[in-house]
Amino acid sequence: MASYTIEPICSKDLYKIARKIDSSTNDTLLKNIIEFTSKCLTGVKSVCRDVSLNLSGNFRNKKQKKQTLQGLFKDLSNEKDYKKILDLCEFLECELLDKKPTKKRWQLWNDFKKALRLSFLESYRLEEACWKVKNQEKYCENRVPSKCISRTVLLKGLECDCAVVIDEGLDLKNFYVAITRGAKELHIFSESPCYPSHPLPFCSLCNARMSWKQNNKTKKYFLGCSNYNSKKCKGSCSIEKFFLDL
Ligand SMILES: [Zn+2]
Repeated sequence: MASYTIEPICSKDLYKIARKIDSSTNDTLLKNIIEFTSKCLTGVKSVCRDVSLNLSGNFRNKKQKKQTLQGLFKDLSNEKDYKKILDLCEFLECELLDKKPTKKRWQLWNDFKKALRLSFLESYRLEEACWKVKNQEKYCENRVPSKCISRTVLLKGLECDCAVVIDEGLDLKNFYVAITRGAKELHIFSESPCYPSHPLPFCSLCNARMSWKQNNKTKKYFLGCSNYNSKKCKGSCSIEKFFLDL
């Protein structure tokens, strides 16, 4: 299953590669691009290493795709050109690998390509183009890729159809953010049958410990008094109030 990570709005890695490329000499440019590409896509580095080692000498591998890659490498070692960097990136992504590479960092990779496009179309320095791309994102509707992996802090305000939460010791506030991301489905993977294991509050009517219950009609969970069955105490607390009171 292809899955993507969400990047912070202030993407340090994006600005870092932009500054590196803006200040690269022809010698270091290729190395920086390949390093960055393999941070974003799987399976790139070994193929590129194979080709770049052969740049100065005779190119032994006659496969057409590798020759095209060598051509793109040579173009870049002669001149720093944003359009050529983008050509190389798109070739690496779409053509080189027989099996489509997995995008480890989907958003970082897409932002980088967007910034490259803007740089050559409107003659910006790459770092400047990155600022424009990220700024645009801030004001556009926040879109979540169809499948993504993220820390809760980056998902605030975003919603998807289905959320899968892994019990990795999230504190309750982050747990609350995590479980409220899925609009239609929520799956929680945990070793404990009861999660979160935060002590539950006491009933405001009879002071007994409360426990999780589910409304038969709405299927919504709430906290109900543990004396409901024996003493018919109807003390209850909604899930929202429970988390807000934490
Ligand atoms: Zn009670």
